[in-house]
Amino acid sequence: MALSDLRREMVLDAIAEYDLLGRDAFLERYGYGPARDYFLLHQGRRYDSKAIAGVAHRGVGGRPLRADEFSGGNATVARALIRLGFEVTTPGTAIDRHSVEDLLQKINSLRTATSPVTRAPKRHQPLTLLWAIGRAVRGEERLTSWQTTSAELRALIEEFGLDDDRPNPEFPVLRLHHHGLWDLPGHTDAPPASGQVAQRWMRTHHPDSGLQAWVHDLVTAQENVRAQIVVRLLTVYFHGVDLNALLARVGLAPDGGSPAPGRREITTTRAIRDSLLSEQVKRAHDHHCQICGTRLALRQGFYAEGAHIRPLGRPHEPGNLLCLCPNHHVLFDRGMITIQDDLTIVDMVSGNRLGTLRLAPNHEISPEHLTYHRRNIGPAHGTEDRTAPSAL
Ligand SMILES: [Zn+2]
Repeated sequence: MALSDLRREMVLDAIAEYDLLGRDAFLERYGYGPARDYFLLHQGRRYDSKAIAGVAHRGVGGRPLRADEFSGGNATVARALIRLGFEVTTPGTAIDRHSVEDLLQKINSLRTATSPVTRAPKRHQPLTLLWAIGRAVRGEERLTSWQTTSAELRALIEEFGLDDDRPNPEFPVLRLHHHGLWDLPGHTDAPPASGQVAQRWMRTHHPDSGLQAWVHDLVTAQENVRAQIVVRLLTVYFHGVDLNALLARVGLAPDGGSPAPGRREITTTRAIRDSLLSEQVKRAHDHHCQICGTRLALRQGFYAEGAHIRPLGRPHEPGNLLCLCPNHHVLFDRGMITIQDDLTIVDMVSGNRLGTLRLAPNHEISPEHLTYHRRNIGPAHGTEDRTAPSAL
């Protein structure tokens, strides 16, 4: 009877049961109190780590452990789970509601310059954030040398910045620092983000830098919050950009895989990367259907589908995507359900109003696409040429 005998699949079994029962029922069934500080993080969700370890133990001893049968405390449980490759929050990384709101507010109030030519907002800060979030998801170190940061950001800005953007990584890093999102440990005298003074200061100090620790913890632990940030940045700053290519480039792939190293590889994996944006939208909703609120629990995680409002996936942007369960995906795709501009959902068979579309922070639905759907996809328009919806 030892936690050191636990194996990874036993823990996954306990997690699956927790998902099916829900937190309260799971804790009640096995007699555990709610965790305060130590949470196991798995696929963006949090689990009471001691209860999970105790229930997983049935794979070792034939029965789950009660809370009072553990030889060690929470820290022991955390160590055992970390050894099996899981991530566990410790007291210093506790996440509260306030910090989620604070982070979304900061992301939604970035101050970026605009292009003097096109008036489009500059992409330096959004690209810096996406790059750092991609690193965090892959479990890379929060703080990075200036040499690495500047080289990688320079390449990213050249590839995905505005045509008239200069690839100066000093400015977004300093701006994000003064905005409270970026950490320059040991430096309290960072200059404002403009002019040669800023560039000279960075060249002189070569600071290690990265997301603030609390921001890093949040985007690592909270899959839905992370996706809400990504969706917001893509919606506001990257009009006309191949968003899937950008997501692949910064390594925001569903499996947290390594970033595509260059354009050629991106092209050859088009089929895979076409689903990356849908994945972000689904995660922003935590896989709840925007029409009925259901989410399907599968062994490998929750399931939902990314549904295009205007069909054929064009444009492939967050405002043209909904997160739906398979049933509502089919009904919406066949025009049996439409959505009004005020987000009222209408059943086209009975004419009844079914309620209001569920929203997630930062995922805005384009009224223009809803209008297109009502005018062109309604049941009156015939559906015989529309193929079955493809799950993305
Ligand atoms: Zn549904």
